[in-house]
Amino acid sequence: MSSASMEQIVSLCKRRGFIFPGSEIYGGLGSTWDYGPLGAELKRNLKQAWWKSVVHEREDTEGLDAAILMHPVTWKASGHVDGFTDPLVDCKSCKRRFRVDHLKEDKKKQKKCPDCGQVIDLEKNPPRLFNLMLKTYLGPVEDESAITYLRPETAQGIFVNFINVIDSRHRKLPFGIAQIGKSFRNEVTPGNFTFRTREFEQMEIEYFVKPDDAQKWYKEWVAVREKWYLDLGIKKDKLRLRVHPKEELAHYAIGCTDIEYLFPFGWSELEGVANRGDFDLKQHAQFSGKDLRFYEQASNQRYLPYVIEPSGGVDRAALAFLVDAYREEEVKGAKRVVLGLHKNLAPYKIAVLPLLKKRDDIVQLAKKIISGLGKKFVVKYDDTASIGKLYRRQDEIGTLYCVTVDVESLQDNKVTVRDRDSMLQDRVSLDKLEEYFNDKGL
Ligand code: ATP
Repeated sequence: MSSASMEQIVSLCKRRGFIFPGSEIYGGLGSTWDYGPLGAELKRNLKQAWWKSVVHEREDTEGLDAAILMHPVTWKASGHVDGFTDPLVDCKSCKRRFRVDHLKEDKKKQKKCPDCGQVIDLEKNPPRLFNLMLKTYLGPVEDESAITYLRPETAQGIFVNFINVIDSRHRKLPFGIAQIGKSFRNEVTPGNFTFRTREFEQMEIEYFVKPDDAQKWYKEWVAVREKWYLDLGIKKDKLRLRVHPKEELAHYAIGCTDIEYLFPFGWSELEGVANRGDFDLKQHAQFSGKDLRFYEQASNQRYLPYVIEPSGGVDRAALAFLVDAYREEEVKGAKRVVLGLHKNLAPYKIAVLPLLKKRDDIVQLAKKIISGLGKKFVVKYDDTASIGKLYRRQDEIGTLYCVTVDVESLQDNKVTVRDRDSMLQDRVSLDKLEEYFNDKGL
């Protein structure tokens, strides 16, 4: 069994309907991607698994779905207007533009152009700051006063609703607000497939705590979030925690740990968990003139809570799960590609396949099975190839079970159920089929 390459993943995603290049018929649009039928299911499952674990299964959290467009002062307060910048340099030789922190150094500590290899002298050619927020205009007049931004993170929607959630839900500390939604960044060097794009989805939690408890909760959330990836099947040796050294921390941050995955292009961030102190609420209190302090009845005190922020990317997580699940095996001398996704993530749980698609009675029975099972599980019908090929295709998209209807099924009311991973087959009575899949934990 070998690790997947990016070429294998990109090709599988296109071929089997997980991810297509955005606006493809017009030649694509710089690093935008569209999730196809399978990818849409995978992403939904992933977001559902996250929401279940951080909102539904916890007593101490609430969900939120805030607007993408926010009052422009939000981004002044958050620091994004002034500070959400990347330092860029132009290569004088090939004229391409790069992020300074993406330039590699040679043995002489000289920075080199990643494209043409020319030395880039930062003293003669100092970097310029480039703001990553995507600007837009609200309303019909495109003047200064109409400028706003597509949010570069979902977090600020949580901070501005802090008091609304506390008041409407009568919350005490510690408690968290979780949200999933689209964010936009005008990345200078997007790439590595869906890893870095200009439009992406985030899943973020702001967990508000008493300042004295912040470090304890920070460590707790790092562990909780690491476990989530592992529980959904990510291999332990492909996941690591990277604690940010002091010089890498934002000026207000007290601590930050990245959860990284070993992608084919190297260790890269899936999610960051940060102790942000009271920076965000303090800023919004100042810019809005509103009192955002939490009132603690027991001590009759008002104070700004500290916040722990686990902030992950849906697209990056989906990519990591795809890469991690991909495997190639040899079965009876032939290659078998399997997407061994966790049962909660697999796009389709069950495929129903007629052994003979020209036999109307077999097809009818297969469709009858689907109309029953389809109410409880995500089930798909397929008769577009021979049974051997259909099995391989379902393996490649991670379908957990294939139910095959054959001539005998018409007599004995039984079907063959094949397991994706073991390829073992069970003969199961039609009236026991739903129970069979329930027992499998679907
Ligand atoms: P990076 O250093 O990779 O640019 P970041 O540290 O700026 O990421 P955060 O601002 O902490 O990222 O965003 C939280 C999460 O949102 C990231 O861990 C990642 O999963 C996701 N994310 C951020 N930027 C992008 C992007 N351009 N494309 C896809 N996902 C992204």
